[in-house]
This record gives sequence, C-alpha cells and structure tokens, in this order.
Amino acid sequence: MLVDSHAHLDMDDFDPDRPDIIKRAEAAGVERIVTIGIDVESSRKALEIALANEGIYAAVGIHPHNAASYGKHDIETIASIVSSSDKVVGWGEIGLDFNRNYAPRDEQVRLFESQLCLSHDLNLPIIIHDRDAHTEVLEILKRHPVGKRGGIIHCFSGDLELALTFIKMGFFISIPGTVTYKKAETVKTVAAQIPLERLLVETDAPFLAPVPMRGKRNEPAFVRYTATEIAHLRGIEPQALTEAASENAGRLFGIA
Ligand SMILES: [Zn+2]
Ligand SMILES: [Zn+2]
Repeated sequence: MLVDSHAHLDMDDFDPDRPDIIKRAEAAGVERIVTIGIDVESSRKALEIALANEGIYAAVGIHPHNAASYGKHDIETIASIVSSSDKVVGWGEIGLDFNRNYAPRDEQVRLFESQLCLSHDLNLPIIIHDRDAHTEVLEILKRHPVGKRGGIIHCFSGDLELALTFIKMGFFISIPGTVTYKKAETVKTVAAQIPLERLLVETDAPFLAPVPMRGKRNEPAFVRYTATEIAHLRGIEPQALTEAASENAGRLFGIA
C-alpha cells in the first residue's frame, strides 16, 4: 500500500490518458492519491476526478502563482466546493513562491493568510507550497498557527533544521522525487533523519519525476521509486517505509 500525497491529476498533461495513469497507479500499489487544486477550475476538476475514482481524494485552494489573477469570490467558491463533498480532504496548495514570482510578493502573502484563516474555519489540514520563501512562510505560520488537523510542507526543499522546526509546529514533511537525484544531498539528509511518523511521500506529478524516470512526465505510480530511495537512505525495508508513510497520510487526511 502506498499513498501519493500530492499529484495534479487535473492538469492537461494527463488529458490523453488519465484513466491509464490511474490504472497504472493501482497496479503499482498506490491505493490512495490526493489530487491538488491550484485555482477554482482545477479544484473543481480535482473533486470531479476524486468522485469518479475510489481511492482518489481532492484538496482545493489557490496556488501563489495565481495570487495576482484570482477573482474576488474565488475563495468563497472554493469553500463551497469543500462543503459539497467529503472527498475534499485538504486545503491547498497555498503558500509562497519567491522563485518564479508570478505574482507580487505582497499579494502572495495576502492570499496565503486569508486561506490559512479559512482552512481553520473549515477544519481541514493545509498543504503548503514553499519555494525560496522559507523565512517568510515560517513567519506567517508563526502568526497563524496550524489548526488541530495539522498540515503538510509539500515538496520540502529546506534543510534538516527547518524540517524539524516545521515538525515542532505540527507539520508533516512531504518528500518528492528530487530525493532520488544524485546531487540532492540536503533533501536526502532530511528524508533520512526526520522522525518516520512525520514523513510523507509525493510525486507532484506531472512534475519532478524521480530517477529512473527523471525528465519524463511524472505520474503517481512513480512514487514507489521515491519511497524505495528513502527506505534505502534510512536503512529500512521499503515496505516498512511505505507502510509508515501511508499510515501518516491516512491519519492526516482521514482517509485510512
Ligand atoms: Zn507546490
Ligand atoms: Zn503541487
């Protein structure tokens, strides 16, 4: 049993063969996938895919890339998607992206903070995107402590010290396929040393395919390469790693 805690199954990249992708995930033992929205349209589509497939769940929210373009009522619309189905299991992805800077930083901060407040009201775990914005994300999360449902720092890219700080604040650390890349020493250290009960695995498909699929379109079935590498780094059996990571995701999202 494996859980891919973060994939974007709604994206156009999967239009030609989405049902095959889902079948391949099942065949690879990936029994649960959380598909993640990045705006109103993609959140809606994420829920549609979740409703049509047993074992697939949706998270909804507005990505920081869209902080300059979202509409006034978009957040309310997404909140109504949450209340329409119990297959919505998380709020996200939300956060800050100071790498691409598709939206001005102050607008990203405003959008992030308003969604954090709402996720508390809706009692959902949050999924945080933090790219080159570690200090700012940390500051904001100190001002808005995570609710009792907890949250995830997805596609974690900081160092071990930062990971342990987030864990103390109530977060899970989700390790992506980059951990299989030869030179990714920092993420390898994080994956090897954080407490097992706080570790999740993800693909972020269609992005960031792990070795040996690096450079190709990523898909949930490939999460097994990431899990195997983490098990190797920790010196444990792959099955022990996948069981623990799946149990963590099950507990956090309430999808065990
Ligand atoms: Zn992200
Ligand atoms: Zn993502």
